[in-house]
Formats: sequence, structure tokens, C-alpha cells
Amino acid sequence: MTMEAPVDRRDFFSQLGLGTYSLVVLAGEAEAQSRAPSPADFDKIAPRDAGFAAAERHMREVLLETDVLVAGGGLAGVCAAIAAARHGARVVLVQDRSRLGGNSSSEVKMHVVGANQHTGRPGWREGGLIEELRLADAVNNPQRSWELWDLLLYDKVVSEPNITLLLETTVFSANVKDGRIAEVAARCDKSEHLYRIRAGVYCDCTGDSRLGLEAGAEMRSGREGRAELDESLAPLQPENRTLGSSILFTSRLYHNPMPFTAPAWARKITKEQLKHRPVASWEYGYWWIEWGGDHDVIGDNERIRFELLAIVMGVWDYIKNSGDFPDSRHWAMDWVGMMPGRRGSRRMLGDYLLKQQDLMQGSFPDAVAIGGWAMDGHPPEGFDRPDLPPNTVLRPPEVYEIPLRSLYSRNISNLLMAGRNISASYVAFTSARVMATCAVEGQAIGTAAAQCREARVSPRELARDAGRMAKLRQTLLRDDQTIKGLTNQDPLDLARRARVTASAESGAAKAALLLDGHVRDIPDERGDAAEVHHWAAPVDEGRAAWVELRWDRPQRIGEVQITFDSGFKRQLTLTSQEAQNVNLLRAPQPETVKDYTLLAQLADGTQRRLATVKNNFQRLKRHRFEAAEMQSVRIEVQATNGDALARIFEIRCYEVGQTISL
Ligand SMILES: Cc1cc2nc3c(=O)[nH]c(=O)nc-3n(C[C@H](O)[C@H](O)[C@H](O)COP(=O)(O)OP(=O)(O)OC[C@H]3O[C@@H](n4cnc5c(N)ncnc54)[C@H](O)[C@@H]3O)c2cc1C
Repeated sequence: MTMEAPVDRRDFFSQLGLGTYSLVVLAGEAEAQSRAPSPADFDKIAPRDAGFAAAERHMREVLLETDVLVAGGGLAGVCAAIAAARHGARVVLVQDRSRLGGNSSSEVKMHVVGANQHTGRPGWREGGLIEELRLADAVNNPQRSWELWDLLLYDKVVSEPNITLLLETTVFSANVKDGRIAEVAARCDKSEHLYRIRAGVYCDCTGDSRLGLEAGAEMRSGREGRAELDESLAPLQPENRTLGSSILFTSRLYHNPMPFTAPAWARKITKEQLKHRPVASWEYGYWWIEWGGDHDVIGDNERIRFELLAIVMGVWDYIKNSGDFPDSRHWAMDWVGMMPGRRGSRRMLGDYLLKQQDLMQGSFPDAVAIGGWAMDGHPPEGFDRPDLPPNTVLRPPEVYEIPLRSLYSRNISNLLMAGRNISASYVAFTSARVMATCAVEGQAIGTAAAQCREARVSPRELARDAGRMAKLRQTLLRDDQTIKGLTNQDPLDLARRARVTASAESGAAKAALLLDGHVRDIPDERGDAAEVHHWAAPVDEGRAAWVELRWDRPQRIGEVQITFDSGFKRQLTLTSQEAQNVNLLRAPQPETVKDYTLLAQLADGTQRRLATVKNNFQRLKRHRFEAAEMQSVRIEVQATNGDALARIFEIRCYEVGQTISL
């Protein structure tokens, strides 16, 4: 294992010299909105009158000033940017590739998994932004196109008025003063621009901790020795080896026989090499085609790409031409990755280092997210250790908590991180690295970044202040982030003071549970509700189900938030693997309310229709309208997406524009 000391701060900025174009990224409204970017938005990032950088005279130089800079547009970065933007922060999101999504994009095609462990821990699908993305993808992309997943992420990001997106732009330098990042530099060679980006808070979601590296954040790579943290899964001695990278492929069944000739440089694969690596199907490559964990996974990227492609071609050659798989005769590859999907590299050090014991039984007052994937270690040599199974797993008994203190740098005061680069031991990282977990960490730090900027405090100051931590956690919960055991304590939620009645109640799913503070059922081992926290009532054609909140005195209400059921019992992801795809629905989830009307009785006794919704498929819905004094609010459900019961977990009511203040 290596400890990387803070690097010398390269004063790139002073070299840039003259020619600076200054610009302030305009703040949009504080609430999440959907709108197409205007041409003026693009003028901001490519202004015609921008001068040329002194250091690179063909590159135009642009200064962007913003509240939050997010480096890296994988799922951690996308969720961080959206969360910060929806909480009113101006955000610049910098992604070095043309597609968002990181390893989940069409460039790598890794399916997103998380706390529910495919189907291993049913009922624990994460809520929040990742659920919003998963539901939208399942409905709009039943054909399972990876490129449409990329497009969905692009759509979500460009539809946020507070986000300025810089694609094909790489963060490559940081200017640090007094332990704070003052400015970062990024370059886009496609458009020949150099960016200087100034923000109050910075988020490193690059996977490789590139921003942290440039800023001199303390970090480590490799594996801790067992003595350091007393982790049973750690090697006896520390070592500078980690998980390898992988390249996936997809293949399709054709009408005609499809011959395959391997390139000369493909490896010759033997049956012996596949002893622990079963080939059960071949439509979606193999995560165990892994290599390079015993090399420099960043510096040796080109070598790793070559070796992985040589193994991919060799394995496909074996499937097609060895005679062991005659059923593959009509199959042909239709896509091969060219980018090694990276699992592990540098991890930054925060105020807390998450470790194996925390995943087995941990609890944190500053918990802001959950994980649940097994600790999933692989031999660093990957495919070159055919004598070993490709992984060994230890499953945390329950979903575990991730503290905010593992999501900010311990020595760079305005730097947060989310993704596979959080402050975790190697053993804990082997679980927390999966992408739904990265996404919920992203939502947590984006929300934290917005609150840091608003309160003018550092992430550490936020974490150490019980009041601010409570506000952050309640804000996350309001946004449907899953935080174990946390219930709605928001004093501004007017629904908590209401009486609730309903058209009917189905079994244990009582109407009063709408206001019990929980936004999900607690599942048993099969994913059924061991603890019920939702209301349910029969609904069919001609018979609406309704639930009503009523107050003794009229309340001024401008926003109603509803959390529906979206079938957490099933897994939901985009995958090319048929064995996984059969377990999920690429459509609206049947449990979710589809058509509903939101009605109010005003203080003067008149009725007002607040909203009419058709074809809903989302779990969390917010309705904002002109605030008025209301005696009651009623939700009338006309149809679900298939289920016989209308189900709702929670209803909240607010005055418009209020934020949580505890
Ligand atoms: C083959 C394989 C199998 C895996 N299996 C699964 C699985 O089944 N399910 C699962 O959920 N996870 C799986 N993982 C783990 C998971 O893919 C990664 O841990 C995850 O992608 C980490 O997310 P991230 O957002 O931190 O990083 P990434 O997904 O790597 O995203 C980081 C993004 O930042 C960008 N970036 C990097 N440097 C810069 C820079 N300097 N400037 C701007 N942008 C930058 C990158 O291009 C990238 O798009 C697997 C990984 C591999 C390789």
C-alpha cells in the first residue's frame, strides 16, 4: 500500500497569464426545473470574445465562477451535480468524456447495482435520485439501449437550469491557498478552450481522485495490512495492489451461422483457465475478464487495455471455436468495450475511514447514505490467477451506513468526494464501489455542498454541528434518500399536524401510516414488508381510492409532496444479462399510482383542483402551486400501473420556498 503525500501545488494559473475572460454562471431558481438550455447558455462556455491563453496561444481562456464544481460525470458526479443544483447552488459539472454515467455509460456498459445486491437483499433498492433515473430509464428505454441511458443522464443534467455542463473537458490542475481549493483548471481540446473554474465547494467524483491529487489531498491506494484496522479480509501485510480493470462485450443471436476469427494477438484460452470462471451464457461478457490490479491501474492503462482485449478475444474464440459451446454457432459479438472499466485506484482520506467492521455493524450520527453490496475482493492478477476463484465475498448482515465524515477530505477544507474514491479501507471499498452506492453518496455530497455554500461553512464544520447535520439528513430524507432508521422530523411539514382519513384501508396498510415519518417498508428476507409504513386501498375503474389530510385550522400550503410505491422488492437496472433482466420490469412499476388528482378545500369552503396527473411512473412527486389557506388536501387515485391497490408511503405539505430549519 502506498500513502501519497500532498503533491507540490503547480501554479498553472500564474503561467496562464493574460487573456482571461470573466463570467459569472447565473443562478437559476432554487427549485428543480425542467427546461431546454438556451443558446445563451452555450455562449457562456464558448464566448466569442474570449481571449487566448498566454501559455497555450491557440486555446481560448474562459473563467467560470460558480458555487459548486463537480469533477467527473459518473453516477456519483451526476447525482452530486443534480442534488446541488436542485438546492439552489450554481454548479459546473466537468466530465472528460462525451457521455455521462462513467462505468454505467454505453462506453463500458456495467449494470448498476447497489444495496439490494441484485436480488440478494430484496426490498433495499435505494430511493432518491438514482431511483428517479432507474424509473425513467425502465419506462423510456424498454429496448435496453445503453446509448439511451447515456441520453437520459444528459437530459437530466441539461434540464437543470443551475448546471453548466462541460463535456469532453478534463480537470487537470488545482490552485490551493490556505488548505482550500481556490480555482481549478480544465481543458477541452475538442473546442480548444481552457477553463479556470472558481467555486466555493468542490466535489471530486472522478473515481481516480484526480482533483484531490492536483489539490494535494491526502490519499492512499492498495490494500491495508491486517494490523492497521484489524480487518479479517485484509492481507497480512500492506500491499500496493488493488482490483483489476475489465472490458465487457455483448453478443447477439443471428439467423445464420456466424463464424469468428480471432486477431493474431488474442490469447489462446484453455479449459483449465476457465475452471473457476463459468461460461453459462455469452450475451453480456464477463466481469471476471479482469486484469492489471497488480500494475499501476492508471499509468499502465494502455497495457491494461491491450491485455484485456487480448483476453476478451481469446475467451470469445474459445466459446466460438473450441467445440465446447456448440450453441454459440449463430451468435456474434455486436459490441466490444474499448475503455478498461476501472474498479479501484486512489482513495482520499476523510475525517473517518470506513472499514470492514462498520459494514458488519456500524451506526453513525452523520450517516447520509446506505450501502449493502457484499465486500467483494478479487485477486489483483485477475484472469492470470486461474487457480483462484475470481472473487471472494463477505456479505454485510444488513444494509450499512455511510457517514459524511468519509465523504470530505481531511486536509483540503472545501473538497468533498463521492464514488469509488471515498475515505474507505480497501476492504470497505470493495463493497461501497458499486454504482448505486456511488450515486447515493453523490446525492449526499451535492446536498451537503449546497448547504455548505448557503451557510458558508466547510463540510467538516457541517459534520461537527449537530443542528446542521440534522438539517442535512432531514433534507436528504425529504428528497427520498434512504437513510437507515431516520424518520421525518421536519417541523415545516404541515402534514405532520393533520388528521388523515381514507376511502378504505387494506390490511395493515393503514392511512395513519402516511404520517408515521417512514418512507419505505422494512423488508423481511424475501422482500415482503416486515414493517408496513404505507397506506393502501383498492382502486379499480369507476372507483377511485382517496386519502385526505384535514387540519383543525386552515394551513397556508404551496407544495404537496407525495411518495408512491415503486416496487422496491424487485431489482431495477439496465442490464444486458438475461439472467438479471428476467427479474425486473422494463416498464412503469405496477405498484406505482398512475392517474391521480390533487384537490384542496380552501379556508372559505371552496374546492380547488391543484393538479391532475396522468401516466405517472415516478415514486417521488412534488406539486407546487400558488400558496393558499387550506382546510384539507385530498389525493384521489384513479388508476395504478397494474396493481389492484393504490399505495402511498408519505404525503408532505409545505409553504412554497421553505427549507428545512431545525
Ligand atoms: C468490470 C467491472 C464490473 C463492475 N461491476 C459492477 C456492477 O456490476 N455494478 C456496479 O454498480 N458497479 C460495478 N463495478 C464498479 C463500478 O463500475 C465503479 O466502482 C463505479 O463506476 C465507480 O463510480 P464513480 O462515479 O466513482 O466512477 P466512474 O464510474 O469511473 O466515473 C468517474 C467519471 O469521471 C470522469 N473523470 C475522470 N477523471 C476526470 C477528470 N480529470 N476530469 C473530468 N472527468 C473525469 C471519468 O471519465 C468517469 O466518467 C464494476 C466495475 C468494473 C470495472
